[in-house]
Amino acid sequence: MRTQIAIIGSGPSGLLLGQLLTGAGIDNVILDRVGKDYILGRVRAGVLEEGTVRLLEEAKSAERLHAEGLPHDGFSLAFDGRDHRIDLHGLTGGKRVTVYGQTEVTRDLMVEREASGAVTIYDAANVTPHDFDGSTPYVTYEKGDVTHRIDCDFIAGCDGFHGASRKAVPEKAIRTFEKVYPFGWLGLLADVAPVNHELIYANHPRGFALCSMRSATRSRYYIQCSLEEKVADWSDDRFWDELRRRLPAHHAEALKTAPSFEKSIAPLRSFVAEPMRFGRMFLVGDAAHIVPPTGAKGLNLAASDVHYLFEGLSEFYGDRSSAGIDAYSQKALARVWKAVRFSWWMTTMMHRFPDTDDFDQKIQEAELDYLTHSRAASTALAENYVGLPF
Ligand SMILES: Cc1cc2nc3c(=O)[nH]c(=O)nc-3n(C[C@H](O)[C@H](O)[C@H](O)COP(=O)(O)OP(=O)(O)OC[C@H]3O[C@@H](n4cnc5c(N)ncnc54)[C@H](O)[C@@H]3O)c2cc1C
Repeated sequence: MRTQIAIIGSGPSGLLLGQLLTGAGIDNVILDRVGKDYILGRVRAGVLEEGTVRLLEEAKSAERLHAEGLPHDGFSLAFDGRDHRIDLHGLTGGKRVTVYGQTEVTRDLMVEREASGAVTIYDAANVTPHDFDGSTPYVTYEKGDVTHRIDCDFIAGCDGFHGASRKAVPEKAIRTFEKVYPFGWLGLLADVAPVNHELIYANHPRGFALCSMRSATRSRYYIQCSLEEKVADWSDDRFWDELRRRLPAHHAEALKTAPSFEKSIAPLRSFVAEPMRFGRMFLVGDAAHIVPPTGAKGLNLAASDVHYLFEGLSEFYGDRSSAGIDAYSQKALARVWKAVRFSWWMTTMMHRFPDTDDFDQKIQEAELDYLTHSRAASTALAENYVGLPF
């Protein structure tokens, strides 16, 4: 088989890139090591920046998002028994975020891709990129006992943090930066009305908590936990009790509960690989970088990478210019590092670290107090939260 762009990974970055390329008449094939249902079962991000929404519109995959997504003009920072609203809309001159689950983004992109007739190969084993350092790259994969080969012009490594693309790069050609946080997030999903119409980020001496949502009837809650915790040890009742303890009293009293239908622990990590281009292979999204979910940036960074790469590839095929693809890594990384900084900062300000003592707790509360009373500081937070331009 031959295609112009072989895309490894059918997560949001691979699917979004595929849709944009198909729309521009650039042939592409997507390969994923797992099946469609498995991908759609992964509960992850839920907060979309305006730039991400714009790209989904461009990919003709935003109809349901506009019908069902929840526009949010602000969120709350809760600490020291009170909460303070960050007015995203007012502080950023009219910007907002949209709450719409990653699973729904993925589902919409899959539906459009199927309708367009573009090829996706699921359950492809041992997907391997080859010869991306030369001029004739190709990808191999196995299905049953047969090894297949796809020749292409370029390879887009959209295969997440544990994927094959980054691993195929020789060690001496890549530099990585990593910070692993000494805690995780225990998340719970339940069909119950959210405690608040906007998100609540809570700093508490017992640990961080986040009240989020997927819709007006589906809530997503998280509590900071130790990495040694086991999901099986957390009954729903234990989770709800712990969440209540970490919220200001008026929210704790208003919290409605229901049986959970998903519960999982996610470790927190900041990771960046540089560069993001290796000859004819590009790394995109989580394949190149991971951020802790505190700033809601992971999926949105994947979208901005896709934007830069799509621009570059369109220029390459449309104008026969390689300027865009040559600039891809530098442009993407400049935005990536700012989001890495923001996510690290929010994580540091909101969580209790194992060595946090009462002094550190007071410093965090003083920073939050300053943040909520200084328009300049609130504006910096809001500007980063709604997403820096791309
Ligand atoms: C619990 C959790 C909560 C999160 N919350 C948020 C949030 O609130 N906001 C936010 O913006 N981000 C959040 N994120 C991050 C966000 O989910 C990711 O940034 C996003 O999924 C990145 O998309 P991607 O397409 O680059 O990678 P992925 O979604 O990881 O997709 C990669 C795809 O590649 C496939 N693949 C992997 N290896 C191979 C291989 N060897 N061969 C072929 N295919 C392969 C995988 O099956 C997968 O389908 C969260 C993540 C987690 C885990």
